[in-house]
Amino acid sequence: MQYRSSRGGGKEFSSKQAIIKGLADDGGLFVPSRMPLVDINFLYQKNDYKDLAFDIMRHFFSDFTEEELKKCIVKAYDEKFDSELIAPVEKVDDFYVLELFHGATSAFKDMALSILPHFLTTSMKSQKMDEEVVILTATSGDTGKAALAGFSGVEGCKIIVFYPDGGVSEIQRKQMVTQEGENVFVVAVKGNFDDAQTGVKKIFSDKKFGEKLLENGYKFSSANSINIGRLVPQIVYYFHAYFQLVRKSEINMGERIDVCVPTGNFGNILAAFYAMQMGLPIEKLIVASNDNNVLVDFIKDGVYDKNREFVLTSSPSMDILVSSNLERLLNFTYGDKETKKHMDELSKSGKYKTENNMIKGCFYADFSTVEEVAETISDLYWNEGYIADTHTAVAIDVSKKYRQKTQSKNKMLVVSTASPFKFPEAVLKAIMEDELGDNLSATALTTKLEEVMGIKAPSGILKALTSEELHDKVVSKEKMKAIIADILKVEQNL
Ligand SMILES: *Cc1c(COP(=O)(O)O)cnc(C)c1O
Repeated sequence: MQYRSSRGGGKEFSSKQAIIKGLADDGGLFVPSRMPLVDINFLYQKNDYKDLAFDIMRHFFSDFTEEELKKCIVKAYDEKFDSELIAPVEKVDDFYVLELFHGATSAFKDMALSILPHFLTTSMKSQKMDEEVVILTATSGDTGKAALAGFSGVEGCKIIVFYPDGGVSEIQRKQMVTQEGENVFVVAVKGNFDDAQTGVKKIFSDKKFGEKLLENGYKFSSANSINIGRLVPQIVYYFHAYFQLVRKSEINMGERIDVCVPTGNFGNILAAFYAMQMGLPIEKLIVASNDNNVLVDFIKDGVYDKNREFVLTSSPSMDILVSSNLERLLNFTYGDKETKKHMDELSKSGKYKTENNMIKGCFYADFSTVEEVAETISDLYWNEGYIADTHTAVAIDVSKKYRQKTQSKNKMLVVSTASPFKFPEAVLKAIMEDELGDNLSATALTTKLEEVMGIKAPSGILKALTSEELHDKVVSKEKMKAIIADILKVEQNL
């Protein structure tokens, strides 16, 4: 399997090269040269998550030896996860919730970021790379911690995480700034997530700065969901969830299901789209957005327009106006040339229009307001005894809207992307309304939610609440490059 830039250019790369580079030189994303087809009856025999992961990922990472790939998988999906199934499916009301929050940091980012560091170090070794890799990551909250946890202490790597100052929850912030490890750095950026992400992308495509770093023995890579080493592991749990439903006789093998995904940067749902193209029986992929509903408009009428107000919502990991991974869907649907054209338009005017909307055949999109999210959490708790976090609640609400609108009778897999303990204030407010006092500390909120749910909070969250804050840097978006130079002790008169 070879990879090329989503914007063309004719160069091909092995998966190891693509993983190390993160982003293509022209700013495009690496896309696989073809989509492998799989036999679901064969894969169904792979009961264990790790065995299934191997049989899916080997198609994409064909330059890894069997031993290399298996080692990466075994190191990633171990006791760090508090569920033996890794990603269990729960039946709630008349839908199925795929819980992707059982990893070390209680968000779905763990699914990919617990394996990416192993892919990266394996790739570096076999490419005989001498440079130290510097992972640059912009985060809307969850990626940051999951990447820090994944990369902390990994030899030959440094990681620098940028998060929007004031744009993440108190627990997300605490999780990040308490991260230990000599090779980890956390920086707040004055701006929103898009400012941080745009800043990181700019630094990646800054050739001069890249050369300067190379002279100093450093090479940039990315842990953002644009890295192909993050996207591919996410395909696995869609197959795994489908097979769980077959095993429990909730569906028959081959039966088409609908999948609804709380969407931000479009990585999670793109993995579901890849699974569908590989042969997983999915009828409709439902994009669930919050008030930042740029994708809803795009899927409805083919116009992507980021020129709109950026709204801070109760589901901050989806507060995004530029969904990077959409570029891979454009590439799959319209090819290299069109993709490059649209991405140029996006960077010039913040807007593009696709010719015909083929995407509509596979996708549906809708959004939930903050009020609807709170109502959904409350209804679920009082009627079903299930507590969903705000992101999951967006998907549950949107999946209901979809069913109402289309009368679809398909079984519905709703993806749950975070533990409610990551967003205790919004969750408790929805359930208890005025009974919840104001200005409660993150610790008080966590204790309260433990009482309501009757379970202990995940250990990683409890640790973040009680550990010392180690990172306090705050910079303007113009100073992101300068702080990197500072951290790496690289001469700065660029
Ligand atoms: C990252 C994240 C999302 C969005 O996922 P994408 O792959 O960026 O679309 C949704 N919910 C939570 C909790 C997340 O951390």
